[in-house]
Amino acid sequence: MTMGIIYSIIAPIYNEIDTLPELWRRVSGVMNSTGESWEFLLVDDGSTDGSSERIRELAKADPAIRPVIFTRNFGHQVAITAGWDYARGDAVIIIDADLQDPPETILDLIRKWKEGFEVVYAVRGERAGESWFKLWTASLFYRIIYRITDVKIPVDTGDFRLMDRKVVNVLKQMKERHRFPRGMSAWVGFKQVGVRYKRAARQAGVTKYPFRKMVRLALNAITSFSYFPLQVATFFGFFSAGLAILAIPIVIYMRITGSGAFFGQATTLIAVLFLGGVQLISLGLLGEYIGRLYDEAKGRPLYIVREAPEDQ
Ligand code: UDP
Ligand code: MG
Repeated sequence: MTMGIIYSIIAPIYNEIDTLPELWRRVSGVMNSTGESWEFLLVDDGSTDGSSERIRELAKADPAIRPVIFTRNFGHQVAITAGWDYARGDAVIIIDADLQDPPETILDLIRKWKEGFEVVYAVRGERAGESWFKLWTASLFYRIIYRITDVKIPVDTGDFRLMDRKVVNVLKQMKERHRFPRGMSAWVGFKQVGVRYKRAARQAGVTKYPFRKMVRLALNAITSFSYFPLQVATFFGFFSAGLAILAIPIVIYMRITGSGAFFGQATTLIAVLFLGGVQLISLGLLGEYIGRLYDEAKGRPLYIVREAPEDQ
């Protein structure tokens, strides 16, 4: 066991074969310039493009690299979690493998850590090389999450951040399955600060976050940190019940006075369809939470490693 590692860098890797050599070159350049000891956890999240082989080669050339290789794709958030589990440093830094998070910014994060902050998150100032759709959905996502969750998760902030050992030790105890690391790291408290940076374009390859995965991430974020959707259902329930209480005497009165209103099938049909729809949506929301509960109850391991760093 090596003693006294100061920095652990964690990069989740899913089919990033073309960015790996440049990632290693830039991260090691920056980290060596600190003059302090560091390790590089490359967490291979079930890549199928030969990234695993490339990681093993890099690890042979540079002892700072510690590969964690999954048996299949478990997802970005889980890969980050594995990084936390294997990291030994006093400060743990998460960085995307595609170099959208410039490694040079790590030095800014470290500076704040040395000032005494325990979570230093990187805030996306500008973003280059991304479609307007991605920018717009991302911006909307951060703002919705900020409004409806109980934890104030900083806006325009991804997983790129530095966390003190104390924080990582707490996060390691949080075994929830549907994970939202940036929310979890806001939830724990501690002294937090943001550092602005310019998010670069992808170095190579394509995004591993198609729309489907972005929706899933948003759902995880919302359900892990709030009951808002359930509260919306309750609100709708009270609203329609209130409407009914108002409408009943009016309908009775009109019926008695024989004004002829509200006799059509159309009104009935609309009311039934509307309420039926609201009820099914509420049921679906409930199901979302129950499914998550079921996943928690099963208590399966979060991930399975094929190869762990040998000295662990
Ligand atoms: N990633 C991962 N597992 C996945 C999807 C993505 O480990 O299932 C990694 C990916 O290799 C990258 C990081 O997560 O290092 C961010 O992914 P990406 O750059 O594709 O997301 P975007 O920046 O487009 O939101
Ligand atoms: Mg990216």
